[in-house]
Amino acid sequence: MNETDIRTALQHGSAYLSRSGAETPYLDACLLLSETLGIEKEQLFARLSDPLTCTSHDQYQALLTQRAAGVPVSYLRKRKEFFGLDFYVDSRVLVPRPDTELIVEAVLEITDELPQFDQVHDCCTGSGCIALTLAKLHPGIEVSASDISERALEVFGINSGRILSRSLDTYVSNLLENVPGTYHIIVSNPPYLLSSEVDAMQAAGWPEPRVALDGGDDGLDLVRKLAAQSTSRLHPRGYLILEVADPQMEATTAILEALGYGDIEVRHDLAGRRRVCIGRNGAHT
Ligand code: GLN
Repeated sequence: MNETDIRTALQHGSAYLSRSGAETPYLDACLLLSETLGIEKEQLFARLSDPLTCTSHDQYQALLTQRAAGVPVSYLRKRKEFFGLDFYVDSRVLVPRPDTELIVEAVLEITDELPQFDQVHDCCTGSGCIALTLAKLHPGIEVSASDISERALEVFGINSGRILSRSLDTYVSNLLENVPGTYHIIVSNPPYLLSSEVDAMQAAGWPEPRVALDGGDDGLDLVRKLAAQSTSRLHPRGYLILEVADPQMEATTAILEALGYGDIEVRHDLAGRRRVCIGRNGAHT
């Protein structure tokens, strides 16, 4: 084989991923090549003319093949940045999305304004991106977390060591069933996709765990249950903060209002879609 340099490898990798239908082929190629070489993506651009060894080329090609087959880049690199922190991820958990950073921002705003609101629970925590980011950025609040998936909590444990070097209280629990105590703030990025959407994604080979995605026929099964459970698990005027999809927002605010939540606020993600719903327990007038 002729010797390949980094520039050529990126061009070839990007063209290959583009043919496979990847949405961000050049970025993906950069991330996978930097992973192969053990350097940061930015360093690639200073080394575009450097040759690639055969071993590196083969490793890079193997990652490209898996990416083309639909494996997310984050699973291949076993990491995903969230709120500037470096989380470990694998196929036991949903890959953290930037949209979910809205929940962290909302909690930090509330606890800044109301420092006495210092007990926070993250339900359906998965990798722990919300809970561990909050505990890291705001050591003054007491954060606990739960998930129905023991496998997800194994990943949470890896991230506790990596992000915090201490552990938080965690519970294996179907929503709040096995979670003790009452809270000032309950947050969740629950599974909220429609079962039919998840069927189609999994038929196409999507590897994220179904339990992290499937919210039932209208996607709101877990939102309904969690909002109802939280009324007795939140302090009076405590906050419930939920991530859902834009088309579900009217139904979500209606669910919260019917349960007596008030001061409902909806926040938008970077793409301008309604994404996060905030309500206060017992505040509906
Ligand atoms: N945000 C994810 C997606 O759009 C869904 C995550 C979830 O169900 N909580 O694929």
